[in-house]
Amino acid sequence: MGLTEIANRIAKAATEAGRDPSDVTLIAVSKVQPNERVEAVLKEGHRSFGENRVQEAAGKWPGFRETYDGIDLHLIGPLQSNKARQAFELFDVIHTLDRPKLANTFARLAQEMGHCPPLFIQVNTGEEPQKAGIAPADTDAFVSECRALDLPVQGLMCIPPVDETPSLHFALLRKLADRNGLSQLSMGMSDDFQQAIAFGATHIRVGSALFGERVPPAG
Ligand SMILES: *Cc1c(COP(=O)(O)O)cnc(C)c1O
Repeated sequence: MGLTEIANRIAKAATEAGRDPSDVTLIAVSKVQPNERVEAVLKEGHRSFGENRVQEAAGKWPGFRETYDGIDLHLIGPLQSNKARQAFELFDVIHTLDRPKLANTFARLAQEMGHCPPLFIQVNTGEEPQKAGIAPADTDAFVSECRALDLPVQGLMCIPPVDETPSLHFALLRKLADRNGLSQLSMGMSDDFQQAIAFGATHIRVGSALFGERVPPAG
């Protein structure tokens, strides 16, 4: 639907919720999209993008960064520990801190590399066995654990189950963030970002609504 239309919808949803639209960051999810589509959005001046695979991001973004200043790249997909170093080098924000082992790896890398990107903890709000994330009941303890490791945790992230009302999950994530003193919420995708904004989303992750359907790579 284009950047302008999405910006209008963000503004409307935020205003209706009594929020400032500038408190909502649109992350343009560019995974699997052809480079021409991504570059068109860069040319319009947009700078926040999301990718779910380290490998794919490594092939695409260093080149774009040479041409466009001020790019903010967000990792929104699962991260293997052995790719954490590369993720630290490529991404400005990581939304998928989802297990204690990864927290320990991040803490070690932060020491060694002298920096750590801002982090979101992914919460498995639907408690789906196949989905990554910390269980809601374990979230308070995990936030404390990350703080004890000096990790820069800024907020929480969730991906609601496809067959449930997303607002229930947004409300739960908000409650978990509030009671842990976390101000940022990464939630809401193409089909539900307006609801997410109503529940306090600060980062919405929008792919297909902006770029069109994802075209699977040939072969
Ligand atoms: C792909 C993806 C999105 C974007 O999904 P759309 O429905 O295309 O907006 C958002 N968040 C995550 C974690 C994703 O993997």
